[in-house]
Amino acid sequence: MTSGWLESKLAGWKANLLSLAGRVILTQSVTSTIPNYTMQCVALPSKILQGIDRISRNFLWGSSENKKKLHLISWEKVTKSKEEGGLGIQAAKPKNTALLAKLNWRFNSEKSSLWVRVLSKKYHKQRRVYRIPTRPSLCSSNWTALKKGNEIFNKGTKWVPGRDSSLSLWFDKWMDKGTLRGLISGPLNKDEENIKLKDVVGYVGWNLEHISFSFPASILLEMKATPLSFSGSEDDRLTWHYSPNGEFKLKGAYQLAIKEDDNWGKCAAPGAWVWKILALPKVKHFLWQCCHNSIAVKVILKAKDLGISPDCPVCNSEPETIIHALRDCPKAKCFWNSLLPPFSPNVFYGMPLVEWLKINSRSARISAISEMEWGTIFPMAVWIL
Ligand SMILES: [Zn+2]
Repeated sequence: MTSGWLESKLAGWKANLLSLAGRVILTQSVTSTIPNYTMQCVALPSKILQGIDRISRNFLWGSSENKKKLHLISWEKVTKSKEEGGLGIQAAKPKNTALLAKLNWRFNSEKSSLWVRVLSKKYHKQRRVYRIPTRPSLCSSNWTALKKGNEIFNKGTKWVPGRDSSLSLWFDKWMDKGTLRGLISGPLNKDEENIKLKDVVGYVGWNLEHISFSFPASILLEMKATPLSFSGSEDDRLTWHYSPNGEFKLKGAYQLAIKEDDNWGKCAAPGAWVWKILALPKVKHFLWQCCHNSIAVKVILKAKDLGISPDCPVCNSEPETIIHALRDCPKAKCFWNSLLPPFSPNVFYGMPLVEWLKINSRSARISAISEMEWGTIFPMAVWIL
C-alpha cells in the first residue's frame, strides 16, 4: 500500500537539486507523516516497514533506481533524534511501535469510547491489556496492534492510584521498576492473586501480614519508596515517565523503542551540539556530516574501495582527509589566516577535526575582523570554503 505511493510522492522531486537539509525535511514530511494514519492502529509487516525505510534512505542520499549513491552514514545514526546526535528522521519500525504504544495509552485512558468498549468486551475480560496472552490467530488486527505496542507502553508508563483505586497489587504497574508479579518468582495462592493495592496500603503505611511470604529487602524498599497517596482523582490514572506533566509523548516513545532495539541501542551518534549552534540549516547539516566523518573526500572514497587516488587535488602533496580539505591544505590555511581566528595558530591548527569544529562553532570570542562572535562567522566560513 504505502511504499509505491511514497515512492511516487518523492520521485516528483529531484533529490539531487536539494541540499541534505532540504532532503531531510522532505523525507520527514513525506515518509514520516503519510504512513502515520495506518501505523497508528496496525502493526505493519516487517517487509513493508523495511520498504518504507529503503525509500526514505534512498531519497535522503540521492539514490535512484538507475543511479546508486553512497549512503555515508548508517541508517541507525540518521534515525536517532537530534538530541541524540541523529538527523531526526524516524525509522519505520520504532515509529510503528511508538504509535502502537500510543494506542495502548488511548485504550487505557479512553475507557468510555466505543472502540475501547468493543475491544474490551471481545478480548479484555476482567484483565488489563498487558496480561492477556490471547492466541494471535484469533485476534483482530487492532488487538494484535495493541499487543505489539505493549512492551514500550509498559516500559514508559505507570499507574497512580486514585481514591477508588482498583489496581491489582501484583499485576498492575504502579512502581517504576515493573509489576510486582514480574519481580517475584514462584506461585501465589489463589486468594493472594486478587489482592488490590489499596487492601495493603493504608493511611498508616504498608500492612503485609496477609501475604504468605516475606518480600526480599530490595523489593520492599522499592515498594515503600513509591509515593501512593490514594487522593486526587477518583480513578486510577496513567502517567508517562518521559514528560513533565505525565501525558503521553510520541517522541519519548520513539526514543524508548530505539533504545530497546538491538540495532539502534548499541550505536552512538556524535554531534548533537551541531543543532544548537547559530547557523543556517544547510551549514548545520554539513557540520553534522563532518562529525560523522562522512564527507566524500578522497580518503573516504578510497576506503570505500572506489579505486580513487587519495591525494588532495589542490596541493597534490597530502592525502585529502576532511581536516586537510577544510583546514590544513595550504589554500585553506591561507583562507583561515585571512579571517584571523581568535586562537593561537598552535591551538587552531592543532585540534583534531570534531574538536576543531565544535570549539570554533561555539566560540563567543569576538572576531578581529568584525564585531561578530567567531562562533557565528566560523560555521559559515567552513561552508563557503
Ligand atoms: Zn591539499
